[in-house]
Amino acid sequence: MLNELGVIRISTQERALMENLERLSLNSGSHSPSLATMQQALPEIHIDIDACFLSNPLATELFWTYFNTDVLNDQQLFKRMLEAYPSQNRVIAERLSSTIGVEPGRVFIANGATEAIQAVIHNFSSHIHINIPTFSPYYEFAGPDHRITRFRVDSGNDFVLDPGRYVHSVLGSGADTAVLISPNNPDGYLIPDADLKWILARLSGLRTIIVDESFIHFADRAVPGPGGSGNGLPTLVGLTEQFDNVTVIKSMSKDFGIAGIRAGYAIMKKSRVDQLLDHGYLWNSSGIAEYFFSLFTRPAFLSEYREVLDTYRGYIDRFTSMTSGVNFVRAYPTSANFQLMRVPEGVSADLVTTLLLVRHGIYVRACGDKIGLDGEFIRVAIRTEPENKLVFAALKDVLG
Ligand SMILES: *Cc1c(COP(=O)(O)O)cnc(C)c1O
Repeated sequence: MLNELGVIRISTQERALMENLERLSLNSGSHSPSLATMQQALPEIHIDIDACFLSNPLATELFWTYFNTDVLNDQQLFKRMLEAYPSQNRVIAERLSSTIGVEPGRVFIANGATEAIQAVIHNFSSHIHINIPTFSPYYEFAGPDHRITRFRVDSGNDFVLDPGRYVHSVLGSGADTAVLISPNNPDGYLIPDADLKWILARLSGLRTIIVDESFIHFADRAVPGPGGSGNGLPTLVGLTEQFDNVTVIKSMSKDFGIAGIRAGYAIMKKSRVDQLLDHGYLWNSSGIAEYFFSLFTRPAFLSEYREVLDTYRGYIDRFTSMTSGVNFVRAYPTSANFQLMRVPEGVSADLVTTLLLVRHGIYVRACGDKIGLDGEFIRVAIRTEPENKLVFAALKDVLG
């Protein structure tokens, strides 16, 4: 009876919970159920550590400190934020421009990067070539008239993107759009600068290339904004700006730990920003997102952010060095703030996820629904140091 679950023994109660969890996941489509949804549906489960959600917890704390001082302490300002329209898209882009070192006309402010992905796919592409595994909106947002073709990056080769094979695949597909996420979600692979440049140069005939750098702050990559200006944070903008078919997509959710605010942006050629803004997206931000964007331009905030980012990158390094040598799970190298892990032969990732949850109160992402992942994988978000230690101990307990 336990055969399909592999070698791990589980109780009847754990089995029942596992079935409930599976039902819940099925109902949430391709994104894992949120913490709130989980807790509501399965009140018997206590989640102590959310290692599903990919954010820098230190950055959330930093934002929270500023938000308290600037906004919550000033009731008039807060009320005004709720009562009034936020600034228009172009006004926020204008303010952001010098911080990110990009002309304001090329910046499209989005209600989370997801909105920018949707805008680009719906306006500037008809046949999308995606790499699998990938972040699912890149194919889910395609409409009935879109075509989707795929290029698989292989777990056997640590998800390395082979530039020659990739370019061959894109050109052979006839796609007008290519999507490169670097570091990639869910595997964390960072495309080396030289490879990215080489690829872009060969795909200059494409209508659109999306370069999604939503996790670039976590990468060990020193190159700051273009022209030496900007904020000193890693970005691929300098590398990509000579190619005018490229759109750089940037989410603020993960690195600033503020997914609830919905703040992101895209950089693309000016005529495309004009085309999008001529037909909508006027006030697609919010007062709170606008506050975040203004904070992002403040040197004091930026320097504190760089400090917490450094500290957090230290946590990432320590966690990945713990997992790299173990034999109970295969943890792939990562340049992001999460690690993809392959569970041992014969063990189901759903089972591991359930046991981590019921026995240890730790919520990780089972990757069974990720197209292109051949085998059983979990994705573990890297959190604070004490949390990471508990996660590691729990993995060892369940799988070791
Ligand atoms: C999370 C994520 C996004 C979207 O984030 P928003 O919260 O919509 O800003 C975009 N791209 C990738 C690769 C992501 O993982």
